[in-house]
Amino acid sequence: MLAMLVVILPVAAFSACGGSLTGQTRSFSCFGTTALVAVYDDFAGSGADERLEDCLAKIKAAAADIENSISAEVEGSSIAGFNAAGSGETVSIDKTAYEVLREAKRLYELTGGAYNPAAGLLVDLWGFSPRFNGGGSNIKKPYDRDDPESELPAQKYITAFKNLTNFNDVELSESDGKYYAKKPSNTESVDGVTYTMQLDLGGIGKGYAADVAAGILADAGYGHGYINLGQSSLRLLKDARGEKAPDWKISVASPAGAGNYAEIYAHDISVSTSGDYSRWYEIGGVRYSHIIDCSTGRPAAGSVCIATVLTASAAEGDALATALCVMGETDAARFIAEHDLKSLYALRSNGGYLVKTTLQSGAYKITDNSFNVN
Ligand code: AMP
Ligand code: MG
Repeated sequence: MLAMLVVILPVAAFSACGGSLTGQTRSFSCFGTTALVAVYDDFAGSGADERLEDCLAKIKAAAADIENSISAEVEGSSIAGFNAAGSGETVSIDKTAYEVLREAKRLYELTGGAYNPAAGLLVDLWGFSPRFNGGGSNIKKPYDRDDPESELPAQKYITAFKNLTNFNDVELSESDGKYYAKKPSNTESVDGVTYTMQLDLGGIGKGYAADVAAGILADAGYGHGYINLGQSSLRLLKDARGEKAPDWKISVASPAGAGNYAEIYAHDISVSTSGDYSRWYEIGGVRYSHIIDCSTGRPAAGSVCIATVLTASAAEGDALATALCVMGETDAARFIAEHDLKSLYALRSNGGYLVKTTLQSGAYKITDNSFNVN
């Protein structure tokens, strides 16, 4: 998979107060990808290494808990339980799933449904769920195509599954410290098989985990470093070079498929990127990507091919970056203006790329000059 965001580490790091900051990085697997935690601190003091190991162990455990709660692929997770439930059934979910679903609901409403975690069946229909990517189950589904390299999904499934994406109909509730989600009561039948809404929190989960990890780093007293979750969700603390150079340099991968097209300079914020270039296939000269427009039941067909947003919360940024790719040029521009969103995004235009941004001129640089900025 393509690297979407890369933090370039400074070679030497020093704190403003004269003590030497050195970097330690650790990576681990979660959400089918790699999480990288970088911490810059004065590791010379006694107990410094233990403090770091303790903090990293907490981050790893928290990420595993989140995955075990919200991944549809993990047997016994809250979301797997929801997906397996019958129409109209209320299932018990854990607190993490409840919190993520509440945030997902807020973002679904905010984006007018462009971000929609009820895309699960459509994501699977179009071949972008983990079972097509070396993860999850390899159970065949009635709607699987004989030759996915040349054949599109059947329209009857697109229509049926589109009717099972009204995320507003999911009811969340809390009582006596227990949490519940009620599955909508509508169903769709195709060729004698009945389908119910399936959730997919893949568009927000990594961001949510990055936020939790950042909270753990802050609680441990670390102020310099970052968390890079799967190259698409970054939570930045301060750069290791101190007050004189507080910004990290982030390289944003090119939607053209190789190299980078831009750099962003930022700190104490999250940077999230989504794009139609990270997972896609082409049939009959048309590109089909993993970002689904639930209003059509098909992969997003607008011209926004990569969107990077800078937000306080990485969960919000994760969902908004996905949503901008669904919205397309006009709606994305309107949404960004209405919400005063810090963003850098590219449109496919006349065989090339057109970049739009609300970042200040010193906060980014276009490094590939075949991309035109306006
Ligand atoms: P991201 O990589 O953050 O853009 O998230 C994309 C992933 O979220 C996809 O691989 C799907 O699993 C899921 N997804 C696809 N379309 C949507 C959508 N419109 N809203 C929410 N999640 C989506
Ligand atoms: Mg996203």
